[in-house]
Amino acid sequence: MPSFRASELLPTGFCAVGALSEGDSAVVTIRAMSANSSCPSCGAVSNRVHSQYPRRLADLPIAGRRAVLMLQARRFRCEAVLCERRIFTERFNDNILKPWARRTARLDQIVHCLAIALGGRPAASFARRLSIPVSNDTLLRAVRRRGNPSFVPPVIIGIDDWAWRRNHRYGTLICDLERRKTIALLPDREPATAEAWLIGQPQIAVVARDRGGSYALAAQKALPNAVQVADRWHLMENASHAFLDAVRKSMRQIRSAIGAATINPGLLTAAEKLQYEGYLRREETNAAILAMAKEGATIKEIVRSAGYSRGLVRKVLRGQRSDVFRVRSSSLEAYLPWLDEQWAAGRRNGSELWRSLKQRGFRGCLRVVSEWSGRRRRSERMDASSISRAPSARTVARLMTIGRDQLSKAETVTVAAIESGVESLVEAREVVADFQAMIRRMAPAELDPWIERAKTSLVAALANGVTKDKAAVSAALSSAWSNGQAEGHICKLKLVKRQMYGRGKLDLLQARVIGVT
Ligand SMILES: [Zn+2]
Repeated sequence: MPSFRASELLPTGFCAVGALSEGDSAVVTIRAMSANSSCPSCGAVSNRVHSQYPRRLADLPIAGRRAVLMLQARRFRCEAVLCERRIFTERFNDNILKPWARRTARLDQIVHCLAIALGGRPAASFARRLSIPVSNDTLLRAVRRRGNPSFVPPVIIGIDDWAWRRNHRYGTLICDLERRKTIALLPDREPATAEAWLIGQPQIAVVARDRGGSYALAAQKALPNAVQVADRWHLMENASHAFLDAVRKSMRQIRSAIGAATINPGLLTAAEKLQYEGYLRREETNAAILAMAKEGATIKEIVRSAGYSRGLVRKVLRGQRSDVFRVRSSSLEAYLPWLDEQWAAGRRNGSELWRSLKQRGFRGCLRVVSEWSGRRRRSERMDASSISRAPSARTVARLMTIGRDQLSKAETVTVAAIESGVESLVEAREVVADFQAMIRRMAPAELDPWIERAKTSLVAALANGVTKDKAAVSAALSSAWSNGQAEGHICKLKLVKRQMYGRGKLDLLQARVIGVT
């Protein structure tokens, strides 16, 4: 078995002269084993030592301690007749020690990896734990010095924008979709910038990009023969947005469908919510009883077939049961005028009000009063009109597109009212759902029939947009390449950018995002 020699701990080509402790560092004095060195100007080998000088180098930690190598560096005389250099400092292999470096190449390699993986500041603190003394700035410099990593010329790319700062400054990210790697970050999202980059990559055959927009134009100009693919993720987004627009256009009809008597469940107290749900149940019963009566059933028959009490059926048929809340005297009722007065005078603390009420003979518990005051506060926060106002377009769009099982009773009532009152919106929802299903199933044959149908619907704008970019959209439905990956890379970019602590200069970002994949 070959034995391990302590000299193997040193960089190749050096031997130890001595070692000592200096604080928490191990200081090893070393010298080069070679008797000569070649002149950097003429390349002639010289063994005539002129002088010596100490060179202090940081190296990989030794057994958890910082390591310092004190190199007894030599100066040589150049003896070549025609060389203008008289004296030169000894040179080593760049893979071991670079001419002016203060760290050995093997340490520099680790420093560079740390900076790439963690970013300046986090890398600096981690390096300290590893007994590698480097500053934040040194780490950033280490990343910069290596320049932009090279990449294999891509054939299938995804291109998308990303925000340096939301709504403020945008850049462009380009992915190699085959190798699943980010290969370039461009400083802005101008068509000219993207075009310039794309022109340099004439081998690109497929460009996945968002629908329409500047990248389509840039790709068209720079790579006229490349196939453009509309990014499926963006298509899904476009479709959802088209539905939201349709809802916005229909708000007037929606409001009248929901009616002014809408109850905002947010304003109800817990007890009232229970009552409200009871009310919805009662409304169902009422509707069932009325329907039977309409078909000519007698009270007796309704009672027998539906199992409701005779009194209840009679009440419903006389129209005496359409209250929202069962009229039930609240324990608070007698005190409401007094409470309102206090509220108006600014006494709004629930427990204080409750204590005063108790002195006035109120026997209910604190919860009754605090629920009342909470409700007052909520209703004041909204203006009077918003209480009866329909939900926002965004909310309506969401309610209409999420699963029924995820809706509360009140939301179900709202959606049902919209669906029966605004049929064009129901149609728009179907058209959008069909579009998204078509994308998921990747069914290009369905595109033309879909466009025909969508043209006359509330989401005609989506149909028009798709028609304008039809080649790329149908490519999205038949090509395996979608830009979904670019989205993933943008997420990683955001993470890296956060770790840069606001020092996210493009070259550093690029080195970090592209360097580690
Ligand atoms: Zn020379």
